[in-house]
Amino acid sequence: MNKQITICGAGLVGSLLAIFLKRQGMDVRIFEKRPDPRKSEVHAGRSINLAISQRGLRALSEALPGLEKKALALAVPMYGREIHDLNGELHFQAYGESSQHINSIGRAALNELLITTAEQLGVAFSFDLSCSDYDAVKQQWIFTSASQQIIKTNPQEILIGADGAFSIVRTMLSKESAVQPLVDTLDYAYKELEIFSKEATGLTNKEALHIWPRERFMLIALPNADGSYTATLFLPLEGEVSFEKLNNPEAIRDFFNIYFVDACKLIPNLIEQFSSHPTSKLFTIHTNEWFNTHTLLIGDAAHALVPFYGQGMNAGFEDCRILSEIISREKDIHWETIFAEFYRQRKVNADAISDLALKNFIEMRDHVADAEFLVRKKIEKYLHQTIPDLFVPQYTMVSFTDTPYAEAMQAGIDQDSLFEEIMRIENIAASWPTEQLQEQVIAIVRKHSRK
Ligand SMILES: Cc1cc2nc3c(=O)[nH]c(=O)nc-3n(C[C@H](O)[C@H](O)[C@H](O)COP(=O)(O)OP(=O)(O)OC[C@H]3O[C@@H](n4cnc5c(N)ncnc54)[C@H](O)[C@@H]3O)c2cc1C
Repeated sequence: MNKQITICGAGLVGSLLAIFLKRQGMDVRIFEKRPDPRKSEVHAGRSINLAISQRGLRALSEALPGLEKKALALAVPMYGREIHDLNGELHFQAYGESSQHINSIGRAALNELLITTAEQLGVAFSFDLSCSDYDAVKQQWIFTSASQQIIKTNPQEILIGADGAFSIVRTMLSKESAVQPLVDTLDYAYKELEIFSKEATGLTNKEALHIWPRERFMLIALPNADGSYTATLFLPLEGEVSFEKLNNPEAIRDFFNIYFVDACKLIPNLIEQFSSHPTSKLFTIHTNEWFNTHTLLIGDAAHALVPFYGQGMNAGFEDCRILSEIISREKDIHWETIFAEFYRQRKVNADAISDLALKNFIEMRDHVADAEFLVRKKIEKYLHQTIPDLFVPQYTMVSFTDTPYAEAMQAGIDQDSLFEEIMRIENIAASWPTEQLQEQVIAIVRKHSRK
């Protein structure tokens, strides 16, 4: 087996993959187009965070003993959603059992931890080197620096494209293909806004993901370890209430005063932040061209998805774990076979989590404030506590287990049809939980489980 591997992209997934591969005895180098994040202030002082849950944490702990603990030391637990309604009133919805939580972690801090850990294991990092082309005849990948220094991989050298949602490796891989990658763009965009620790004292629940659901759009805020929060506004690009309309200070101020009056107080320099922070589009990437004889896509490069389930990085970390498992099981087999097996296992699950993430947007921006949805959540919790072998809520499967995403998706479809029947029980929303209703609900679950 050829053990010389180049990874394109030292983001979250590329850096973790380097750790896995190095520990498998590979000779690993990474080329990254940006400067070393440990030496440069990439986000101009802004802290951007993301949620890490079971799949991501498991991958960290299997990559290197102790790595999960180091990451968790940088994180803040989030036990549920703190819903802010239009009147500024708060309603807490737990994610699962009282001890179950996901974790908010700074993207930069986690990336730096992974880069430093990989480097300590002997992975060679080269920054400011961008993958720029592919020589299909010689089967070499080409990297270029700002000073026009050119580095080529050896002919047929293994290259793994971990170069994110805008992957050039993906573009080159699908060049010859009849079917081009599909970029499924949402009519929504997002903007990140910082809530500094001084004002963040206004958010009393520090261990929750805060949501201001407003049916067609929403604001969310995740805590940072330093007491600040990163808020993200998700809004249509065009239309009556949209980014397009928020084109002057008065419009921005009015919009926040109407829809997010309590959040306004948390961001005193709102206008300045709103005007200077980028507005970014949201999209899903679908491609079937994940590999050739010596190249593989991984993470967002293979399957970028919208962020509403908090699973993009978790799915990418799970990719790394599964690829490593396949390699360790099939040591004598050549790379193309390993890549094909990886594609077979992961594509169906990547498609599933991409769909689930789109569906969760509707749940977060709209349903979490809906009375019937809240009753359903209570019944789900009761069922999971009472008959855990027969009922596991879909959110629990996705965030707190390693159940393949495709299975979690199918379970969600089955649960929707189950709840169609449950919610037809007379007075269920108004009277839950009486003993009689509990018995009826359990009987319906048992009946469905026999089908
Ligand atoms: C608003 C938002 C919120 C999110 N929240 C969550 C969350 O809560 N939980 C979660 O699990 N996921 C979340 N995600 C998804 C998560 O950010 C991505 O899934 C994750 O960053 C993917 O990691 P990656 O390493 O594949 O790609 P990236 O993080 O994009 O890294 C790619 C790396 O490749 C480098 N690169 C790019 N092109 C080249 C080139 N030509 N040559 C060399 N290097 C190159 C880039 O500079 C970068 O360092 C969120 C995403 C968004 C947009």
